[in-house]
Amino acid sequence: MAAQDTTSFPLSYNLTPSTAARAEAEREAILADPGFGKHFTDHMVVVDWDVTEGWHDARVVPYGPLQMDPASAVLHYAQEVFEGLKAYRHADGSIWTFRPEANARRLQRSAHRLALPELSVDDFIESLRQLIALDGDWVPSAPETSLYIRPFMFANETFLGVRAAHRVAYYVIASPAGAYFAQGVAPVKIWLSTEYSRAGRGGTGAAKCGGNYASSLLPQVEAYENGCAQVLFLDSESGEHIDELGGMNIFFVHKSGKLVTPALTGAILEGITRDSVITLAKDRGLEVEERHVSINEWKEGVASGEITEVFACGTAAVITPIGQLLGNGLSIGDADAPAGELTMSLRKELTDIQYGRLPDRHGWLTRLDA
Ligand SMILES: *Cc1c(COP(=O)(O)O)cnc(C)c1O
Repeated sequence: MAAQDTTSFPLSYNLTPSTAARAEAEREAILADPGFGKHFTDHMVVVDWDVTEGWHDARVVPYGPLQMDPASAVLHYAQEVFEGLKAYRHADGSIWTFRPEANARRLQRSAHRLALPELSVDDFIESLRQLIALDGDWVPSAPETSLYIRPFMFANETFLGVRAAHRVAYYVIASPAGAYFAQGVAPVKIWLSTEYSRAGRGGTGAAKCGGNYASSLLPQVEAYENGCAQVLFLDSESGEHIDELGGMNIFFVHKSGKLVTPALTGAILEGITRDSVITLAKDRGLEVEERHVSINEWKEGVASGEITEVFACGTAAVITPIGQLLGNGLSIGDADAPAGELTMSLRKELTDIQYGRLPDRHGWLTRLDA
């Protein structure tokens, strides 16, 4: 499934250190309460691509606004893909990231689907190291905090014709992230969208592209209006099977300890957290089924006691217990019920590996600061 690398050489970088880098005191004040996606580090990575030269001009430059032509293709046709991963500070001060080669390969698959050029796995990982080399001090050290890294790629050719762009740019920016659940992990309510879909057969559901998010924002508004944190989408063909949330995959825990998650149909984003949860569950000897799950199975399973826990997973929030599903004339579960035991224990095991508190038995960690 891995796409072919289109560059056979490692990119070499030019560095332009920022003259406006925040002083230590200012940085520490931000790191004390970073929130999520609000503050950005002092630098960013940029690599250009065009049809004749391929990838070239790799550089780390001061973080700042881009100058773009108003006719830049991405602004009109949304030819854009992105990734999300985290840098974790371990107790000895070292900086690590989690399964970056999986993000690199997914970026290649997303790029392929959006007719964008592919960046090699090595160049992807090197781009993270280059940013951390200058901005490593932005990786916070308080429990459950991290530096969220956002690589992205878009068509920046000045051209209004409709075709794959001949000029593309790849960027990496980073944003310190506080503990997602500052008050302790609490179950969330989610909203079932019956009117809107996020993906269809042959569409871009398995690509991590901004366009998928654009179409999820209106149902997300509906979710907020109904007191819910996120939207759950059904498959667009039958309207019965559960696909995933707007930005997270979903798991059901059965009373036997078995885990069930929707199978990857091409409409579902292949989450790296999802894959890691499956591996950790199998390591424990638990059965894992990847198959269709209908809303009816969820409803009846909760009523009969067959389904005991439900959780969502993704890099940003790791594992989030789902207390209740609400929809038009529908309510399943209880938002006030405590978080499930297996949900919380898988969450702890995964974060313990990420923060270096448990052995990395699957070779999932890559050191970024050495
Ligand atoms: C990124 C994303 C996920 C989660 O993927 P991870 O690799 O686990 O972070 C799930 N669904 C969608 C739609 C996503 O964009």
